[in-house]
Amino acid sequence: MILITKNTKNPNISVYKKKRWKGLDGNKTTLAIRDFNKSILHYTNPANFKDNKKLTRKGFTYEAYSHKDTKKALKKIFKSKCAYCESFIMHIEPGDIEHFRPKAEVHTKNGEVLIPGYYWLGADWKNLLLSCIKCNRSNNEAINFSDGEIQNMGKANHFPLSDESKRVRLHTEDISIEDEFVQIINPCREDPEAHLIFEDNGQVTAKDEKGEKSIAVYGLFRADLVLKRSQVSRDLSSSLTDLVLIIQQLDQLEAANISTDIILKLLRVNLENLKFAFQIDAEYLALKRQKLKRFIKQNPISNQKLTEMGIPLLNFLNSNTI
Ligand SMILES: [Zn+2]
Repeated sequence: MILITKNTKNPNISVYKKKRWKGLDGNKTTLAIRDFNKSILHYTNPANFKDNKKLTRKGFTYEAYSHKDTKKALKKIFKSKCAYCESFIMHIEPGDIEHFRPKAEVHTKNGEVLIPGYYWLGADWKNLLLSCIKCNRSNNEAINFSDGEIQNMGKANHFPLSDESKRVRLHTEDISIEDEFVQIINPCREDPEAHLIFEDNGQVTAKDEKGEKSIAVYGLFRADLVLKRSQVSRDLSSSLTDLVLIIQQLDQLEAANISTDIILKLLRVNLENLKFAFQIDAEYLALKRQKLKRFIKQNPISNQKLTEMGIPLLNFLNSNTI
C-alpha cells in the first residue's frame, strides 16, 4: 500500500459537475447531489430504518459512484491498481468501487452491526477508492486480532474506530471528528509506509495498531498475495545484485584503464529495468521502495558511485520524478 495522490475536490466529470439530472425539487442537478439528497430521504425515514434495523424491503441504488465516468476517473488515479494491495486489477476483473466508510451498514470491532452505515457518503468523492475483490469483499477466512476481536478477511462493511462513542451516524454531524479514531489506513490521506513494513520474503508486518488492523481488514497477509510479493522481491534482488557486480566491474576496468563501453551499456540496461520496476503504475511499490532503502543502506559504495555519475538510486523512491 502506498500513498495515493487523489484530490479531495470533486473531479471534473459530468457526475459531479453537470446539472443534467432531475433533483427531488424538480430542478436539474448533478447526479452526485441527487444521490446525496435521495439517500438522506431514504435512510433517515423512520419507516425504513430504526434502532439499527432495516424495516423496509426497498433497497437504495446510488448512481453516481457506479457511473462509468466515475470508475474511469478512479482507474486513472489508482493506475488500475487496488488501493490496498497494489495489485493490477482491471485486466482480470471489473474493479470494485470501494467506499472507505461503508454506506449501507457498518460492522464495529465489537461485532455490532450498525444500520444504516455512512449513507450520505455513497456518492462522496472523498470516500471512493478503487479496490480488488479480495481486499474489498468478505471471505470465510477468520482473523484473530491481538485484542480478541475476530472477523472474516476482506474489508466489506468493517470500519473499526478506537472509540465507538465518537462514531458519526448522521449526515448532519461533522465526519472529521471521527478521523483521529479510525483504525485502518486510508492510502489517499496518509502514508501507509508509516504503519507497514514489507519484508524481502513478501510478508508484511505492522509498526503499530493501525498497521495491524489494516493488514487484517484488507487481508494483506493472504498467502497468494505474499507469494506474489515474494516473486517481485526476488526479481528486484536479482537486478540489485547485478547492479553491484556491474559497478564493481566498472571500477576495475576504470582502474586498469580498459574500455568501459560494454559495461556502461549493461549498466544502462540494468537502470532502465529498475526505472520500469519503480514507475508509478508498477505493482507493489511499497515493498520495492522499502527494499531499495535497505539496499542503499547496505551498499553505500554502489550508491555513491551512481550518485557521482548523476543517477542516485534515491531517485527511484519518488516514482513521480523519474
Ligand atoms: Zn487488493
